[in-house]
Amino acid sequence: MNQETNSQESKIKFTYDKSGLIDGTIGRIGQLLTHLKLGTLDNMLEDFPEENIPKLEERYKDLELEGNIEVYLNHSPLFKNLKRLFEKGRRNNLFARVLFGIPYTIGQWLGGQITRADSYNPYTETAQVYHPNETVAMHEIGHAEDFDASEHPTIRSLIYSIPFIRSKLEWNASKYAMEHMTEDERKQNSKILEPALGTYLAFDTAETAVNAALLAGATISSPAISLILNAAPWVGAGLGHLYSRVIKDPDTNVFISNSKQSYLDEPSGREPALSTI
Ligand SMILES: [Zn+2]
Repeated sequence: MNQETNSQESKIKFTYDKSGLIDGTIGRIGQLLTHLKLGTLDNMLEDFPEENIPKLEERYKDLELEGNIEVYLNHSPLFKNLKRLFEKGRRNNLFARVLFGIPYTIGQWLGGQITRADSYNPYTETAQVYHPNETVAMHEIGHAEDFDASEHPTIRSLIYSIPFIRSKLEWNASKYAMEHMTEDERKQNSKILEPALGTYLAFDTAETAVNAALLAGATISSPAISLILNAAPWVGAGLGHLYSRVIKDPDTNVFISNSKQSYLDEPSGREPALSTI
């Protein structure tokens, strides 16, 4: 049975459920690839810890939103989500919800069952999170915050699949996540979020290069295209780990300046200097 914890102040509703038959078995094998890419193999058999929900609620309790967001922790409810797709208050227009939202919602559910995929659905305005690390949940909520702030929600949903716009929106989601973290948390969590961004950047680069080559008249076989596109996220993740753990200054991250005060930081007692840019 679902256990719903609903914060009074927040418009984000967190719903938790135990893993089901398929996502609790086959899904864990599929999820292994995500853990490998993100460097979180230590947590590969863990669920999102139910006891961490109050911590998430606390982080987002003052968040102001246009719409409302629901986060499904450790489960992926198909029929509930399909119903939500047509509830009042959805920000996408009805045409987009029918044409793109239905297949997207079914695909998201399948991804959850088979690979315990963490994802955001702009048509239902829900995030689905299986990964035990809170950072991943915060990234998915970051997508929701980013979408919520959009003035053209339908266009915003549709442009996600365009190379490099996709990477930019992934960057946005992690930037929003970092805004709810302390400096120490940013330092730690960039080791997951930077390699994750690397997977998208590499995929977008590979897809653009393949399309450019095809347009220029090159002959590339379908298996070769498939191999390139499947390998790219691994290369990106590897480069992301190299950058994050070896090359960069460990106090920095690519998403947000550490000097930018997080709402979690204690007030310094001094007025912040006025920004001129
Ligand atoms: Zn994302």
